[in-house]
Amino acid sequence: PPVFEHILHVPENPMHVMNLAYDKDTSPVKLNLGMGVYRTEDGKPLVLNVLRQAEQLLINDLSRPKEYLPVTGLTEFNELSAKLIFGEDSLAIKEKRVTTVQCLSGGGSLLVGAEFLSRHYHQVHTLAYLPMFAYASNQLDLTFYVALQKIIYVPQPTFGLHPILFSAVGLSVKTYRYYDPTKRELNFQGLLEDLDSAPSGAIVLLHACAHNPTGADPTSEQWEQIRELIRSKRLLPFFDSAYQASTGKLTTPLDVDAESVRMFAADGGESVVAQSYSKNMGLYGERIGALSFVCRTADVASRVGSQLKLVIRPMYSNPPIHGASIVAAILSDRALYNEWTIELKATADRIISMRKQLFDALQARGTPGDWSHILAQVGMFTYSGLDSEQVTFMTKEYHIYIPSDGRINMAGLSTKAVPHLADAIHAAVT
Ligand code: PMP
Repeated sequence: PPVFEHILHVPENPMHVMNLAYDKDTSPVKLNLGMGVYRTEDGKPLVLNVLRQAEQLLINDLSRPKEYLPVTGLTEFNELSAKLIFGEDSLAIKEKRVTTVQCLSGGGSLLVGAEFLSRHYHQVHTLAYLPMFAYASNQLDLTFYVALQKIIYVPQPTFGLHPILFSAVGLSVKTYRYYDPTKRELNFQGLLEDLDSAPSGAIVLLHACAHNPTGADPTSEQWEQIRELIRSKRLLPFFDSAYQASTGKLTTPLDVDAESVRMFAADGGESVVAQSYSKNMGLYGERIGALSFVCRTADVASRVGSQLKLVIRPMYSNPPIHGASIVAAILSDRALYNEWTIELKATADRIISMRKQLFDALQARGTPGDWSHILAQVGMFTYSGLDSEQVTFMTKEYHIYIPSDGRINMAGLSTKAVPHLADAIHAAVT
């Protein structure tokens, strides 16, 4: 008998549907501000100059092998990646408390990290939870069930992959308040309250910087408060760092965007960090990223590292070599590294300039409402506050493609396109 007849069709990912609609649109003014990718002023995919140079070096080096990498990836890449996120003189690295493995970009790093936690993390439950179940008729069963459940808290809203990915490995996904849509800023009070009422031992997903989709980040002081709360409640921080160097803050974008991760690594406690090179090296399709576990001792880190191999091996045996070699070439060469940071700063500054131009264009049109959040938000995205009806209107009438939550990819915008986008927003809200 047929065995696949019962399979149900799953609707396409909305971003994919949107991209197809954009491709079919024949309007000369069409604008795709959906997917989070860097574009040039002409709307073309941006490939960093330093990347081309590094690739050329690799190609010219005829001694380079194409043989398998180890299960954990390119050793040099792992060491350099850890330094990039934890800092050149990170004590955790010096004390060998960090174990880092190469993974398939940010998504793959999150998956390997989550799968490891699903298998090995024992969420600690304090006795305080037991009386809650004393009233239940089937007390033992319930207690057992709760002890087995591993909970991860993700911000509300968050990157769409997070809940899907964590559920897929069997974690129980809950949300914590993150954003106040009325004030269009971080809901810091809500965040603290929700984390404070999370069960001890729960995992907490944190965006290291440039929160996707809201562009609203905690300040340094707020991060410190979050850290204290997480440590005092014995929650486990799981950082997603997909936008290091995108905020354009200060002149050291890499260090400043890793501040949150470094605060947690510096206090001696555990954390998990997923890094992506999709945006900051423009290596999207090369699928290159890193996963680090910060442990309390070198011995534990070594054991965690050995178990990570067992997680990775049955998934895909070992990771691809090309992206890791490019990253290692750039991070290990002072001249290339310097050039990279200059290019990164330029892309971040271009986004900031786009924010200013869009804000000014709305002011000039007298568009109703307060649009200062466009300037205040950081990273690639403006969480515009436009609702799905307004977005549909803008797509239909102005050929502008953004997801229904109103998130605008500022890195895909150009000076030329700003007036058109401002006209569309103006028309949508009036
Ligand atoms: N985390 C966040 C917050 C993201 O926005 C993305 C997508 N850019 C990723 C992880 C994963 O991207 P990638 O797998 O390409 O690194």
